[in-house]
Amino acid sequence: MEKNDTHFMKLAVKEARKGLGRTSPNPAVGAVIVKEGRVVASGFHKQAGMPHAEVEAFRKVGNRAPGATLYVTLEPCNHHGKTPPCTELILKSGVKRVVVGMRDPNPLVTGGGCDYLEKKGLEVVTGILEDECIRLNEAFTKFITTGRPFVIAKSAITLDGWTATSAHHSQWITNEKSRHFVHRLRDRVDAVLMGIGTVLADDPAMTARLGAKKGKDPTRIVVDTNFRTPAGAKVMKHDSTAPTIIATSVEGNRSRPDRGKHPKGVETLVCPKQGDKLDLNWLMDKLGEMSITSILVEGGSMILGAMIRAQLIDKFYVFIAPKILGGGDGIPMAAGAGPKTMDDSLGLKDTSVRRFGDDVLICGYPKYQ
Ligand SMILES: [Zn+2]
Repeated sequence: MEKNDTHFMKLAVKEARKGLGRTSPNPAVGAVIVKEGRVVASGFHKQAGMPHAEVEAFRKVGNRAPGATLYVTLEPCNHHGKTPPCTELILKSGVKRVVVGMRDPNPLVTGGGCDYLEKKGLEVVTGILEDECIRLNEAFTKFITTGRPFVIAKSAITLDGWTATSAHHSQWITNEKSRHFVHRLRDRVDAVLMGIGTVLADDPAMTARLGAKKGKDPTRIVVDTNFRTPAGAKVMKHDSTAPTIIATSVEGNRSRPDRGKHPKGVETLVCPKQGDKLDLNWLMDKLGEMSITSILVEGGSMILGAMIRAQLIDKFYVFIAPKILGGGDGIPMAAGAGPKTMDDSLGLKDTSVRRFGDDVLICGYPKYQ
């Protein structure tokens, strides 16, 4: 490892971030080419089907590649996909050193790109800023290793732990800065998921809404066991470019003829049941098959409680606002039967804390037992 490797990998991570939320089902990748201590080209993977980060960087490098070092956040591909393998391009370019953030998490190809380049006589260094690179593609890694989407739970609570009043009023617990951050989260995931209770209580649109910088609307998924989503609900309307999926146990439109009139773009996904609820494990497998690599669960408390107890949440974002309802009749963050002792509570690891004005955001990963 050379002393500037971390510095240049940081620049490659910065490149990769530019593609976050746009590359699904591919990972976000950044690449930087450095010669004689100076960056001579950089690039990132912009979108699935578009050139890989390395290709973008080599396009800009001109004749400066021979003898240079390539920094790339993810191991270069060594297989023929939609594009020829990047390892061939790297060999041809004449770079003499390749520094890799993380190995390809795909168990079928991991290590292949690095081994190949090493065999061909290049110096290959791996694991530079590895944790940061892994975190950057935590959703892709979960998806490629399990076939299921990476599931993020987002919740906003008062200081006394409620997400809404007894009248289901929840707008707004958090301040504008916090809500803007949530829009950015939505902008980075493939789908948002909500329970039917939230649709009936709040009628949310669940679009990205990033103001002037038009966000990409996520696919909206409603878990609606008995198909109660009203045809006029905002999630059913298509001023959005994103489809809506109603996950339900109700088949077809036999029992209620008006279901045939759903606006174009609304898809019904008939799921098996487990007891009187939808089989959420089955649903996660199915959404993975549909190439949905990441999901933001936005509530309500019934679906969140069910998903926590089924150990389906991979990451939590919990906003705490300096407000107190001061009663015992609000809506909790998660509904249903919880554990009897604190020993059985769900702990979070790798936590981070951020402030948005007076709101506090705690982010962490569950430690399932
Ligand atoms: Zn590639």
